[in-house]
Amino acid sequence: MQKYNFEEIVSHLKNTGYVYQGSEIYGGLSNSWDFGILGAYLKKNIKDLWWKEFIEKSPYNVGIDSAILMNPRTWEASGHLKGFSDAMVDCKACKSRFRADQLIEDATGLSAEGKTCEEMDQMIKDHAITCPKCGKQEFTNSRPFNLMFKTFIGTLEDAKSTVYLRPETCQGIFVNFNNVLRTSRKKLPFGIGQIGKSFRNEITPGNFIFRVREFEQMELEFFTYPNDDERWFEYWVEKCLDFVKRMGIKEENIRLRPHAKEELSFYSKATSDIEYAFPFTDWGEVWGIADRTDYDLKRHMEYSGEKLVYRDPQTNEVFAPYCIEPSVGVERLFLMAVCDAYDKEVLENGEERVVMHLHPALAPVKACICPLVKKLSPQAKALYEDLINDFHCEFDEAGTVGKRYRRNDAIGTPYCITYDFDSLEDNCVTIRDRDTMEQTRVKISDVKDYLKEKLVF
Ligand code: ATP
Repeated sequence: MQKYNFEEIVSHLKNTGYVYQGSEIYGGLSNSWDFGILGAYLKKNIKDLWWKEFIEKSPYNVGIDSAILMNPRTWEASGHLKGFSDAMVDCKACKSRFRADQLIEDATGLSAEGKTCEEMDQMIKDHAITCPKCGKQEFTNSRPFNLMFKTFIGTLEDAKSTVYLRPETCQGIFVNFNNVLRTSRKKLPFGIGQIGKSFRNEITPGNFIFRVREFEQMELEFFTYPNDDERWFEYWVEKCLDFVKRMGIKEENIRLRPHAKEELSFYSKATSDIEYAFPFTDWGEVWGIADRTDYDLKRHMEYSGEKLVYRDPQTNEVFAPYCIEPSVGVERLFLMAVCDAYDKEVLENGEERVVMHLHPALAPVKACICPLVKKLSPQAKALYEDLINDFHCEFDEAGTVGKRYRRNDAIGTPYCITYDFDSLEDNCVTIRDRDTMEQTRVKISDVKDYLKEKLVF
């Protein structure tokens, strides 16, 4: 159960510069968002940490950065051209449009995943589901709607020049399987990861940045011997859970949900989702970890005619490896982090303090350097100019120190560093901790090490 309502958190993010409405001066564009001066940093920090933990610090993995536009045969092979669709239904009375499975789930709590359009129509009838907008019970039959955005390459806008904005980043990894083998000399097991934009023409985007049409994915395709996949599936589930916990997310707000057999995609042997108790729903998917077997490589072999296989150096056996895929959206981790961090408390003097308890490694601004009075600005600025070589810091000389603390609490800055008159004599500054509000006197020459230690993920 979350303490704060979602609207309050969203409005805080908009007011402080984490997120802006997309194309705002033109009245916006349906559920599109821009990341502001703080949000850009939070996103970057999340991506940098993922890259560090899943690529750089893993002895198994390498990273690539593949193109968004791909040969359309890719999407035939992956099944997206035919099957990447959600069933949509319209309310005949008020013309609102819904994803059939979500309409059913919201109204009945029953899962409609994997059901056909006909089966979902029957469920809508059987449960006498009414329109959430107008309350009427008059729906069209549901019909599939392909979620891929189409565009054209070159000057002609015809079928031959049609290309798609990728709906997931992993296909760029599968098609480069041979290139990575050729240029890395990797041996099984090994993984290929990437971070990049994906696009889905979602029927019902919403809940702020939870479901958007343009988002960033961080995906790892981890290749294993076919009989070794189950162990690695567990390994990556644990790694992903560990990442979420290390982000400082409260344990009671996270759960791991293994998919039931009927819910699995036909090619998946096992799937587990890490879910978070978002304030707008009971549990929402953040991270999906799937055992995709050898499905993807085999499909691309079939459609491209290329051999995407591995030759075992010991036995010389040639086969398509199995693949474990941990897939996560940057926006989902972002939203989870800010929902979990947002807090309000009343101080002893009766003042209200809004504070974001973001993990220091995630916080957009690591430290704010504050001269006690403007007269001390030159000295404080010298410290600031030294620190910005290593950390993203701000310099703030406006208003009382108390006001500066409040401003920084509200945006999640973990440390405020005050340069006062004593600093002129003892070459020390006061570092105030956002969470405990404790103040520590630290030598100026030790400030960098102090911060470095606190920022460890
Ligand atoms: P859903 O069933 O909710 O549409 P999905 O199961 O199809 O989602 P995946 O294809 O498994 O999602 O995508 C992997 C990850 O990418 C998700 O766990 C989520 O973090 C992120 N993601 C997927 N779709 C969106 C979206 N529209 N907006 C933001 N993030 C998304």
